[in-house]
Amino acid sequence: MSKQKVYIIPCSGIGKVFGSIGRESAYIVVNELKKEKSALECLPLIVKGKKKVIDTLKLNKVIAIDGCPLKCSYNNLMENVGKVDAKFMTTDIVKENRDLRPESSIMPIGEHTKKLAKKLAEKVAQKVDDLLKPNEEGELE
Ligand code: SF4
Repeated sequence: MSKQKVYIIPCSGIGKVFGSIGRESAYIVVNELKKEKSALECLPLIVKGKKKVIDTLKLNKVIAIDGCPLKCSYNNLMENVGKVDAKFMTTDIVKENRDLRPESSIMPIGEHTKKLAKKLAEKVAQKVDDLLKPNEEGELE
């Protein structure tokens, strides 16, 4: 069985509810849904090119979660790690759930925002399983 993990990298998105959805969903994946299989890493360390962090990400799977089209997580991962194994946009989960309009409050986040984060976390958790599934040769892709 592989010891690889999936690192979840939400964008900073500070001050924006779309960033809050991303961060909250990452916490749900790492602390509840896929505790043994996933971990968080800090985007600023990736931006800074911290060698130990970059090397770890290269050896593992990486999921970017972004809160707007600037895609700070995705773009910085591509620039400094050279790969992203899967990517999500929090705006997509909002578009898919028009009945759950996210509240503007980021501290605390609102009930709709929490529900959106849970829905996104479920998708990310499914992707964690997919990424760690061995291929036909028994190797991780
Ligand atoms: S992707 Fe958008 S919301 Fe996220 S940190 Fe960058 S500018 Fe902020």
